[in-house]
Amino acid sequence: MDKNAKHYPLNVTMPQHCAYVVRDLPQATVEQRERALNATHWNEFAFPSGMLTVDMLSDSGTTAMTNQQWATLFLGDEAYGRNTGYYVLLDTFRDIFERGGEKNWKKVIDLVRTDCRDIEKMMDEVYLCEYEGGLFNGGAAQMERPNAFIIQQGRAAESVLMEIVKKILAQRHPGKVFTIPSNGHFDTTEGNIKQMGSIPRNLYNKELLYEIPEGGSYEKNPFKGNMDIEKLEQLIQGVGPENVPLVFTCITNNPICGQPVSMANIREINRVAHKYDIPLVFDVARWAENCYFIKMNEEGYADKSIAEIASEMFSYCDAFTMSAKKDGHANMGGMLAFRDRGLFWQKFSDFNEDGTVKTDVGVLIKVKQISCYGNDSYGGMSGRDIMALACGLYESCDFGYMHDRVQQCEYLAQGFYKAGVKGVVLPAGGHAVYINMDEFFDGKRDHTTFAGTGFSLELIRRYGIRVSELGDFSMEYDLKTPEQQAELANVVRFAIDRSRLTQEHLDYVIAAVKALYEDRESIPNMRIVWGHKLPMRHFHAFLEPYANEEK
Ligand SMILES: *Cc1c(COP(=O)(O)O)cnc(C)c1O
Repeated sequence: MDKNAKHYPLNVTMPQHCAYVVRDLPQATVEQRERALNATHWNEFAFPSGMLTVDMLSDSGTTAMTNQQWATLFLGDEAYGRNTGYYVLLDTFRDIFERGGEKNWKKVIDLVRTDCRDIEKMMDEVYLCEYEGGLFNGGAAQMERPNAFIIQQGRAAESVLMEIVKKILAQRHPGKVFTIPSNGHFDTTEGNIKQMGSIPRNLYNKELLYEIPEGGSYEKNPFKGNMDIEKLEQLIQGVGPENVPLVFTCITNNPICGQPVSMANIREINRVAHKYDIPLVFDVARWAENCYFIKMNEEGYADKSIAEIASEMFSYCDAFTMSAKKDGHANMGGMLAFRDRGLFWQKFSDFNEDGTVKTDVGVLIKVKQISCYGNDSYGGMSGRDIMALACGLYESCDFGYMHDRVQQCEYLAQGFYKAGVKGVVLPAGGHAVYINMDEFFDGKRDHTTFAGTGFSLELIRRYGIRVSELGDFSMEYDLKTPEQQAELANVVRFAIDRSRLTQEHLDYVIAAVKALYEDRESIPNMRIVWGHKLPMRHFHAFLEPYANEEK
């Protein structure tokens, strides 16, 4: 925020950063893009990024790194066993997620940055520190009861978790089908849950989500990403707590339009899950944004830092999976962790009659990690990526950076709103702006004709702008039960990654979407011509526009 505002007020935001590296954009024509769309089966993931003017497909791993991150990259240790970054990264997580704010940070990353040669000091403060009882065991405790796993991205962490949970449940209850509720399952989480044979459910308040505030903005963000606690209790009682092995919470709620979740809601989810003895798992791709929203909008948090809020937030989970490619952390990274001897560990480990551990779930996870992603010291990441990530995690705690980021989203959302585009979800989420396709098309398009995909492909064809469809096509409307269909948000997402796009890009996007909105009748419906039932089909299915007369 503008630090001069008190003395010499201006009604614009003070710049937070500047750019020293610049990339030129290509000047492709409509005809060239059309040819490329035809040649790539109209699958937007397969469209060459080198032909795009603005790529807003994802904010995942696409961020511009800071000069500090680039510098830290050079401190990467590529050793196979216990590279220095391993210690740095785990302690970065302890600093931010567990130590209650900046005043308690150890910041061992600075010992590496300043090239500390004092071996005794490094042994005492970095290499041989013992930690237990939290989310990130250290030293021998991490070997005896492994509970923190570096895994190169979010979905891989999910897949490791789900595969182990699936195996354990199948041994204990062969043939049984389980339900896993969330405030909103991300597409890969949903895919992983389905592949383990369980049923994903999304319990949020759809009416509140699509409510348009008077004049386009609320005084305080109403936390539209919250879990509907009543629905959660009803679901657990309805199917029986023994059939709900995990409760998930997505923070911020990416599939539900990147909307934040309040601390009060997180506390309630924890209370209900624990009342039924069910472990609570966070999916925390954007924990820092969520902490920013809590600080700005929830009573009692205005004077707390992002890191202080994060430490409280993480005290409520039993386990978490994390894509560290979001929130502007880094270009690659992920994490899976559970509380040492906590509810997740108790539920999924096996014990002898005398209470000693027969099979530790952490050891099972570690076996899977080693067989798929390598040694636990790097989990699919290079040493330099690990260092850039640690640096990026600290930077995400910077209020000015988060404020800038969220303001960019709000600028885009307000731009659409003021241009008269229907269906913009307001307020904007923390990393993206979403448009509800049902409203955009005046409720005229059928849910099985994938007009939202038609919208995103037409945006590529006409203007070279790529966004992601996260509605009927990606979330598989046609393959869902009626109650799951009702929980689906039929949206497209305009992702804004860290410090990469300028206001110029956003103005171009606003103008393009306005023009497309005014000509929405001509946007084609789409049909799937191959890969209809493939898991996570939007990443690889083939599509085709309906000919005009068929629409
Ligand atoms: C991106 C994302 C994932 C998957 O993470 P990847 O790093 O892309 O594999 C999982 N959950 C949420 C909420 C996400 O946004």
